[in-house]
Amino acid sequence: MKEKNNLRKTLSVFICVACCSLFVSCGNSNTGNADKTKDNESGISASEIDKKNGGNNDDDYAASRDIFAMDTYMTVKAYGSNADEAVEEAIKEIERLDGMLSATDKDSEIYKLNMNQGGSLSEDVSYLIERSKEIYESTEGTFNIAIYPIVEKWGFASGDYNVPTQDELNELLKDTDFSKVNYDKNNQSLLYETETMKIDLGGIAKGYTSARIMDIFKDLGVTSGIVNLGGNVQVLGTKTDGSDWKVAIQDPLDEDSYIGVLKTHDKAVITSGGYERYFEKDGVRYHHIIDPKTGYPADSGLISVTIVCSDGTMADCLSTSLFIMGKDEAIAYWKKHSSEFDTILYTENNELLVTEGIADQFTSELNITIINDDK
Ligand code: ADP
Ligand code: MG
Repeated sequence: MKEKNNLRKTLSVFICVACCSLFVSCGNSNTGNADKTKDNESGISASEIDKKNGGNNDDDYAASRDIFAMDTYMTVKAYGSNADEAVEEAIKEIERLDGMLSATDKDSEIYKLNMNQGGSLSEDVSYLIERSKEIYESTEGTFNIAIYPIVEKWGFASGDYNVPTQDELNELLKDTDFSKVNYDKNNQSLLYETETMKIDLGGIAKGYTSARIMDIFKDLGVTSGIVNLGGNVQVLGTKTDGSDWKVAIQDPLDEDSYIGVLKTHDKAVITSGGYERYFEKDGVRYHHIIDPKTGYPADSGLISVTIVCSDGTMADCLSTSLFIMGKDEAIAYWKKHSSEFDTILYTENNELLVTEGIADQFTSELNITIINDDK
């Protein structure tokens, strides 16, 4: 059995998106631990900048840190006089949420809920359950955090991969009815109807984390920043020169290349693809995004779906959902919700489709089909 080297892949996604999203914005950007750099000024060290500016009170002053969390490489970058504190708080928040939301860490809230068939919820988990229910309903069950028994069966939780039989999957599918995970909003608690049910926030956690970081940045007076959580990007404001950020969308068929570049501000740009985590057996590739109708990795004809939206949490849920739906259903869903998000769809036939709201900001060497909301 062949397993994808997830670490290497994630790192290359990170480099691709980081380089492309920052290549205009950051000049001599330096993203080591707690590195600080003056952007757009080559050859000036941080200490020289401090001397020159009399401290870090310059709008162009940047702080940046990298961290490995939630099973992926992340980078956080903020600008302005509070950049250091903002980045430090963002890292603390990533660590807090990672500890809370992991489905495999025995100390996490989610692990304990799964062991005890429910329990009382923190504010964060309560919010995430509500949002998951909302998207579960609007996608008619496609986004389903109760899919976890199936994710586990395939080995995506442990790394101990195997291909289940259809009978095994059919049996487990009975335990994935999210409507049987009873959420009591007043008491902020969950109660699973059967012992074998389990939830997993892997399809929403990174989007929520990037959204939380944007709030932390704003609370600290930061008006320009970018986070890249394993290829899931969210940006605050514009670059310090007032121009849009540039976010590259990775080519799902070539980890060293990208299918296009989006100019954007104040948005989450979140991508789902079967290339992110998979294993191969007998020449067949099995990835980690599960179609709840079949229990199999989604095989919808879409190989990459990017959601562009001001709400990072929703963007994460929808990238997973539209990837499973496939082109026609994804377009129909977007037409119903076109005021809420935009999307970039890439098919196994190399068809690249972009919704009208971002068509002017997206450039690609490939032919682009613009999807209009003509209903
Ligand atoms: P990534 O986390 O790699 O960016 P996604 O956001 O698409 O990718 O989330 C995939 C993760 O979501 C899987 O690893 C699994 O934990 C979970 N998941 C898989 N299928 C579903 C589904 N149908 N609905 C909700 N979550 C899912
Ligand atoms: Mg997702």
